[in-house]
Amino acid sequence: MTPRVCVLGPSGRMGRAVIDAAAGRSELAITAAVDRADAGGLGVAVAAGVLSTADLAAGLDASDVYVDFTSPAATRAAAELARGRKHAAVIGTTGLSRDDEAALDALAAVAPIVVAANFSLGVNLMLGLVKTAARALGTEWDAEVVETHHRAKRDAPSGTALMIARAIASGHGSDYDQVKRHTRDGDVGARPRGEIGVSTVRGGDVIGEHTAFFFGGAERIEVTHRATSRAIFAAGALRAAAWVVGKPPGRYDMLAVLGL
Ligand code: NAD
Repeated sequence: MTPRVCVLGPSGRMGRAVIDAAAGRSELAITAAVDRADAGGLGVAVAAGVLSTADLAAGLDASDVYVDFTSPAATRAAAELARGRKHAAVIGTTGLSRDDEAALDALAAVAPIVVAANFSLGVNLMLGLVKTAARALGTEWDAEVVETHHRAKRDAPSGTALMIARAIASGHGSDYDQVKRHTRDGDVGARPRGEIGVSTVRGGDVIGEHTAFFFGGAERIEVTHRATSRAIFAAGALRAAAWVVGKPPGRYDMLAVLGL
């Protein structure tokens, strides 16, 4: 059976990319699109025979899995409704609070869901590379992460930067929440050994760039990922959607989908 997909936020940057990526694919079909009640384009066809609607319950009923790149509040509300229906999900929204995460965990208790702050193959490979580097180099090499995104991005640091920083902490064997430094301003003192800094740059139309730095005594390593099209995230999310339908309930990440 071809999985039927409901896209949330079809008027958004990622929603449009997901719909575009699905066109011409035979392994799944877009069968519903649900947007905010005040979004532009409601009632308009986003794919063959699929009209954008504000009725989430109807969208879930017409699909086997929903793909969500919206806002934290919308993601939480959708997860709460989906829970009652044990509906599979692919979640890409970033900037989630603890309560939003708890709503996803509650859905994952009854349905299979994939949650990833980044659906690209390259970034998921990068997580393994930085963890290996951090384990090999130890905290004698200062680790920092810098991320750059377009001016409309709301959350900071990016979810991807946090995943990269957490992978470094895991390689160091440290607790990320104890060593993180998300901003520096004023007389912050010398950099403590083992600190992991994350810096944010915002501007223009940058889709997403992340660099992990490892500063040694007289040398340094930089691992960089640059996204030049949202199509990579959309393709990864659709791959996750096709993969997750029929899986046992649980919360999966992109490494599981990719078999890494
Ligand atoms: P955007 O502002 O362009 O689009 C958001 C969409 O969500 C809009 O269409 C809006 O109408 C819709 N929306 C808001 N509330 C809704 C609701 N209640 N029901 C249905 N739709 C609703 O944003 P974007 O650039 O597409 O990014 C969306 C999210 O995806 C952000 O959190 C971003 O950080 C994240 N993102 C994740 C990845 C990844 O690989 N995981 C990649 C890119 C972006």
